[in-house]
Amino acid sequence: MDLGLADRAIVVTGGSSGVGLATVRALLDEGARVATCGRDAERLKNVAATLGAGHGRLLTEVCDVRDADAVDAFVRRTAEEFGAVDGLVNNAGQSRMKALDEATAEDWRDELELKFAGVLNPLHAARPHLAASDAASVVNVNAVLAKQPETRLITTSAARAGILNLSKSLSAELAADGIRVNSVCLGLVDTGQWTRRYAAADSGLSYEGWQAELAADRGIALGRLGRAEEVAYAIVALLSPRASYITGTSIDVCGGVGRSIL
Ligand code: NDP
Repeated sequence: MDLGLADRAIVVTGGSSGVGLATVRALLDEGARVATCGRDAERLKNVAATLGAGHGRLLTEVCDVRDADAVDAFVRRTAEEFGAVDGLVNNAGQSRMKALDEATAEDWRDELELKFAGVLNPLHAARPHLAASDAASVVNVNAVLAKQPETRLITTSAARAGILNLSKSLSAELAADGIRVNSVCLGLVDTGQWTRRYAAADSGLSYEGWQAELAADRGIALGRLGRAEEVAYAIVALLSPRASYITGTSIDVCGGVGRSIL
């Protein structure tokens, strides 16, 4: 099936690793033009060298999504180079492993800032361009924590719930401009976040053994962590003009760890 993404211009935040990187790769495979950002210049340079060489369809820029001016400049450059912005994937970020008694006021502030600025800054910058597109789609990368909070991730769970709520409002608000807004809610996906936690845990287990224990502990029905490209598949489907009647919804990509039936 042709997803209709060839030559579409898509902004993916946080495309130097994990889910964002897999999404950039999948979009390039579909013939889209992709702009992505992250904070670490070296990692972005590697992505550009690996995926971008030669075809002029990948733009990378150092940009922290919490910095509205930097995001404005990044999106402006994307629109100048590609002549359009048809899609936006708000993916950049990470979770914060803090329980109630560990989370400081600063943890709460930082977590809420990252999650909300990570959606609102790129959205504000891209909105006029999206409104001019005939197939505008925004995908917010979220977590099943939004619907199923975990006390060990109390700040992230609360922020995630807020973002799911915000996504619904945005879908209603932006429908008049023809902009669809949806979410993907991740369970546990094998990316940099988990390799960092494996290293920090110093468990003495192999990475596979540690993952298997984690999957059992968290009750993942499919018995394993997800792969970044399995999430990218859902994101690309929601970006596709073929998903033209899908807005205001969320897709769980979580191997069955989600218990919510809504
Ligand atoms: P990774 O750590 O593998 O990648 C995160 C990406 O975001 C990197 O490119 C990173 O680059 C970038 N990034 C992080 N903070 C910022 C920032 N402030 N501004 C710009 N770029 C930033 O993470 P994942 O692929 O696992 O996660 C992707 C998204 O999915 C995140 O929002 C995460 O919270 C969410 N998620 C992931 C889950 C999982 O199990 N993996 C579960 C639930 C949700 P750099 O560090 O150079 O800035």
